[in-house]
Amino acid sequence: MMNCEICKCELTESSARYEMNIAHCKNCFGSAQAKEYILSKTALSKSASEANLPITADDEYSPLSLLLFLLSAIALLGGIFICAVMWPDATEHELKILTYTPSITWLITGVMQFSLYAALGQGLHYLKLISKSSKHTPPNN
Ligand SMILES: [Zn+2]
Repeated sequence: MMNCEICKCELTESSARYEMNIAHCKNCFGSAQAKEYILSKTALSKSASEANLPITADDEYSPLSLLLFLLSAIALLGGIFICAVMWPDATEHELKILTYTPSITWLITGVMQFSLYAALGQGLHYLKLISKSSKHTPPNN
């Protein structure tokens, strides 16, 4: 049998309310006392998970993060490729800095897109880790 963690009254599966993995009765749900209790509990579990559970191997990159990493690689390779294709032939052209501008522009664009996509992918991954660490599953009993 479960009890409300705030007022200790008896709870059934259907009457229990959950907030941050803490069971309450209908009366306590949303009350100031419950909010205070949840705050103290989550602060405790957060510091415990930070101390005992460093980022583990099962924290895999999400498909969107992987897609962004793929895009970053394509952008970088594309930039390098277009740079190489557009690179002027020194024997045919007069060597002016302007001659190299389009190819270098593509190279810089590729590098910038690479860092942008890579940063987005990494940022998304950290967001996922943060949301995962603040989520709790309800108890089994
Ligand atoms: Zn209660």
